[in-house]
Amino acid sequence: MNSAAISTTCAYCGVGCGVKMQPQQEGFTASGDGAHPANLGRLCVKGSALGETLDLEGRLLHPEIDRQPVSWSQALDTVAQRLQAIIRDHGPQAVAFYGSGQLLTEDYYVANKLMKGFIGAGNMDTNSRLCMASAVVGYKRAFGADAVPCSYQDLELADCVILTGSNTAWAHPVAYQRLVQAKKARPEMRIIVIDPRQTATCDIADLHLPLRPGSDAALFCGALNAMAERGRLDSGFLSHHTEGSDETLAAVRNWPEEKTAAFCGLSLTQLQTFYQMIADSDRLVTLYSMGINQSSSGVDKCNAIINLHLATGKIGREGCGPFSITGQPNAMGGREVGGLANQLAAHMGFTADDIERVGRFWKSDNVTKSAGLNAVELFRAIENGEIKAVWIMGTNPLVSLPDADRVRAGLARCPLVIVSDVMRDTDTTRAAHICLPAQAWGEKNGTVTNSERCISRQRAFLPAPGEAKPDWWIVSQVAQRLGFDEAFAYQHPAEIFREHAMLSGFENNGSRAFDISGLAQLSDREWDELRPVQWPVNAANPQGRERLFSDGRFFHPDSKARLIAITPRLPVNQATVTYPLIMNTGRIRDQWHTMTRTGKASRLMQHISEPFCQFHPEDAPHIHAGDLVRVSSSHGWLLLRAKPDVLQPRGSVFVPMHWNSQFSQQARVDALVEAYTDPLSGQPESKHMPISLRRWHTAWQGELFIRGSHLTPPATAYWSRIAQPGVTHFALADASTPAEWLSWLNEYIPTEQWTCQSATLGDTGFNLLAWSDGELQLAFYAHRHRPELERLAIVAAFNQPPQTAQQRLALLAGRAEHGNASAGATICSCFGVGEITIADAARQGCSSVQQLGAKLKCGTNCGSCIPELKKILAEQITLNSGMS
Ligand code: SF4
Repeated sequence: MNSAAISTTCAYCGVGCGVKMQPQQEGFTASGDGAHPANLGRLCVKGSALGETLDLEGRLLHPEIDRQPVSWSQALDTVAQRLQAIIRDHGPQAVAFYGSGQLLTEDYYVANKLMKGFIGAGNMDTNSRLCMASAVVGYKRAFGADAVPCSYQDLELADCVILTGSNTAWAHPVAYQRLVQAKKARPEMRIIVIDPRQTATCDIADLHLPLRPGSDAALFCGALNAMAERGRLDSGFLSHHTEGSDETLAAVRNWPEEKTAAFCGLSLTQLQTFYQMIADSDRLVTLYSMGINQSSSGVDKCNAIINLHLATGKIGREGCGPFSITGQPNAMGGREVGGLANQLAAHMGFTADDIERVGRFWKSDNVTKSAGLNAVELFRAIENGEIKAVWIMGTNPLVSLPDADRVRAGLARCPLVIVSDVMRDTDTTRAAHICLPAQAWGEKNGTVTNSERCISRQRAFLPAPGEAKPDWWIVSQVAQRLGFDEAFAYQHPAEIFREHAMLSGFENNGSRAFDISGLAQLSDREWDELRPVQWPVNAANPQGRERLFSDGRFFHPDSKARLIAITPRLPVNQATVTYPLIMNTGRIRDQWHTMTRTGKASRLMQHISEPFCQFHPEDAPHIHAGDLVRVSSSHGWLLLRAKPDVLQPRGSVFVPMHWNSQFSQQARVDALVEAYTDPLSGQPESKHMPISLRRWHTAWQGELFIRGSHLTPPATAYWSRIAQPGVTHFALADASTPAEWLSWLNEYIPTEQWTCQSATLGDTGFNLLAWSDGELQLAFYAHRHRPELERLAIVAAFNQPPQTAQQRLALLAGRAEHGNASAGATICSCFGVGEITIADAARQGCSSVQQLGAKLKCGTNCGSCIPELKKILAEQITLNSGMS
């Protein structure tokens, strides 16, 4: 195929990798863009699988009102008329927009402008509230601006990198791989992982601090106190460039070593090693994400980290800085345009001067005078009827917001729910009155900004399917119908970008960190060809800027940074007799957010294919691997697969955040989470909820494979859908009797057309194959316990039906013909290498990751599986030594 590859930016995490999409005979393949500064050619397995997620299955392709297709003009007219009526009857505060870190900057800009500048209310918030709102407030308190000081390069240049509240290896794999390579090149570099769990990120750690959940702020206060006691503060920097050091240093004196160690659940030796590593490092980066931010005291935790950097002068220099890394591809872009309800636009807030300035720029006298409601408040206002119309864009709050069942119930009472999305059936579109088909990644065209302030282009390389439109176009069309024609007469996203860039520099004069006025004159072609560039981009920094604050000047009026004296607090909810364990929510390696894209890729489902809960075996000795578990909190319950793991800390249960109602019957983890928020940032405490575990007794467990896309799940108490090529695959379980499940199975089988072949195994075992014209249509396996199946062989039989009676019999038993051993769960998703295959290779003599790579190729591409390869090798060595 000769067509040139299209350079774009990954759809997923905040690393913001450059991707080359190469057209193939059919579809596209993704590879890393060697010229992109974020990844320098690397991609993780999610990015590598982008080409496998481009199909149109499940897409929303036409505007719909009450689930019926309508024309665009009908849909837009209806949206405008209903919004207008609500504004007329109840005022602008009765309307809210809820956006997403997956919107492009141009989309975000237009939505924010319409809500805050023309409708005249502050109620534009975003799912980024759930991701990094605490980091934003932490930066603003310290620096006077929401400005990330570092670049990814600083991770490589540091003497010591602290990773805290971040399973970087799984959540930001390419940033982690850069660190892996840096450590390989400079083994003297120190890596410290602070996490209650021993995660894959610990693989390269010189020191892992398994601290008590939520005690991070005390740890960093203790570290600052220790640096003061060791004479490691930068007094010159403190006196010339900061305020607040006296109060802050006085406050951290409350955190001597013994007290800090006890509070954090660490040994004195661990703590002292930590302090010594910091003291010995001239260049220090602290990388943090949701484990810090998602807390009822997340802002204080951020400032405890920043205090340490300011007081030791480890900021504004190569290899230094407090570095918040975001979960979404354009969380930073949303912050630039003012997408959070407590921002106005372009790093301006709600001072009289800012409101007047933005009003003049937008030529509107209706700019909101005050901040709006943040995400949790906004959905509470919907519930209590204050907000009567909400427009949700590109996000799935009924899965991702805390207390998600209550959010669902509240939304059901909202008089007008408008949803712009790419998928037709999500938890949130099910609650919508009007659905508007948006363009997806690969179809839309605009810019995003990653965690290191790098603006990159997301380029379209696919035609828009059906009637899907860009979000900026949809919002502009509604704005025009609301009477704001002139301000929203955009024809091309480059016009929007230029306006956004112009506003960033408007009467700025160095007072606001975000300034890309140097890009305000780009022609359409120059915008189209824009190379990645880190803001600010202005007269002083025409090529952008890698690192901020190298001149010691910050954005408070006196140009000084602020140290903030804080009082560390533990999470609000603690374990009780009824709920004796603490649930920690997070990400897994091969899925992203609520799975609407990654859930399509079969390859990404083979690593972990069902929602699970990971716990220490001694916390629930009666629950075994593979059992189903009812996980309950005071807010709801889930049904999940049990994953006991001795590496999981006692008292703590890890549950992934990804599964939605389209992928599993009862696995929306946020339904269990109470909506406690940080008082300054409004970010929910999503990682600390008291729960209980109970084994769920099943009458049978099974798996169902059906040709094609039968999205309707079976009527069983437990089901999980697993993407497979050309086949719908469910894992199932129920407490009812076999007679009942046979009756629902009949719904899937047109008995007059299909030939069935079945085998009954004792009382509760039943296997069945259904054929039509020699092709396998359905395979079903139900046993008293979870059946052992060779899933790949079963899926393959849908494409290559077995030829002999013996092969058919093997398939009926759920095996390949010769009873080949299953490869096990996929560990290396790049090359499809399974756990059992790897363990076999280890048994046969492979004793290093390199040897496994040479034999099986596993771990030789993106490297994300290397920590798991090492774990399997270690287990094998333990087994071997036990046998010898
Ligand atoms: Fe995409 Fe993040 Fe993976 Fe990079 S690290 S390829 S941005 S998911």
